[in-house]
Amino acid sequence: MLPQLMSNHDRTFNFSAGPAGLPLPALEQAQQEMLNFRGCGASILEISHRSSAFIDVLDSARDGIRQLIGANDDFEVLFLQGGSRLQFSMVPINLLQSDTDRANYIVTGTWSDKAHQEAANCHATEVIWSGKENGYSDLPDQTDLQSLVTSDAAYVYYTSNETIQGVQFQDELNFTTVPSICDASSDFLSRPIDLNKYGMIYACAQKNAGLAGVTIVVIRKDLIHPTINECPSYLNYRHHADANSMYNTPPTFAIYMVDLVCQWLLNDIGGLENMNQINREKAELLYATIDRLPDMYCGHAAPANRSLMNVTFRLPSQELTDLFLKQANEQGLISLQGHRSVGGIRASIYNSMPHEGVLALRDFMNSFYTQNSCSR
Ligand SMILES: *Cc1c(COP(=O)(O)O)cnc(C)c1O
Repeated sequence: MLPQLMSNHDRTFNFSAGPAGLPLPALEQAQQEMLNFRGCGASILEISHRSSAFIDVLDSARDGIRQLIGANDDFEVLFLQGGSRLQFSMVPINLLQSDTDRANYIVTGTWSDKAHQEAANCHATEVIWSGKENGYSDLPDQTDLQSLVTSDAAYVYYTSNETIQGVQFQDELNFTTVPSICDASSDFLSRPIDLNKYGMIYACAQKNAGLAGVTIVVIRKDLIHPTINECPSYLNYRHHADANSMYNTPPTFAIYMVDLVCQWLLNDIGGLENMNQINREKAELLYATIDRLPDMYCGHAAPANRSLMNVTFRLPSQELTDLFLKQANEQGLISLQGHRSVGGIRASIYNSMPHEGVLALRDFMNSFYTQNSCSR
């Protein structure tokens, strides 16, 4: 165990891709007010979602998100369930209303591929760009994409950060004629966004914004249709918007944690510009190490498309990969194994990963290289 971890309740540095680590101040506040929530005489887990104590939490979480991403009244902020995965269905069900409506998909990795498959099951879709042949290691140019969008598309769908492959659009996509729908599950609240560029942006909370159980959907109000044919009412954005995200019992604890994470971002970090700067510095430490030691560490993503959230790389053999994971684990650097579909190493360094955690991983990568580079 690294000595500096001792003061933090023996916590490790957790590189899990999701559910991921949470900011310590948010966990500590939840712990502190667990047994008697703000004078309720019961925990937040035990009170009605209609109580004023919970409504205050819901309002505060919504305001926190609005403030962080600069959402004006043109946008609805919804707290939904079913994970990002349900959005793969809700987006086409809500936005492709008539038989002639179709959607464009930009397929840059596992998640946008799954989203496209789900939409294509029941709707007219077109893949306008796919990175599959290159193993999802690079991303299209924004200018090239403009000419690929079909003029009759109801929306263009993309994933800002492919969590499994570790590729991330450095710039937000912007299509003047067609609304863009962005799955930002793994980089929401990690950097400032310009909402004018989106028809809708959404994220499950368990990567960067809170814990599993709630998905944040920010959608332009004019895209929420009053009626939808043959749509199960639960899948209709309109009902959730009209019911203030309480169409049924909402995931109260998960929303509470989103609020605490927003408060941490606003008050401790000082907003998303600052968060982005910190995230850039953290990622740079790891990518510089990969670039300096290319005979041990081979980065998956093309350098121009590297993710600031999920740093993916491979070692020369499975034996070295296993040894790397084992020794890292012994030093309190946990959950570094890559996704089972791609292997190798994935270091997820979301907002909550402290600078010291990344420094500890960088130092470990350096010493692992020194100890093993001759033995190959
Ligand atoms: C994790 C993730 C998902 C799936 O989220 P669930 O909440 O498990 O449904 C979808 N898209 C991206 C980009 C993700 O990182």
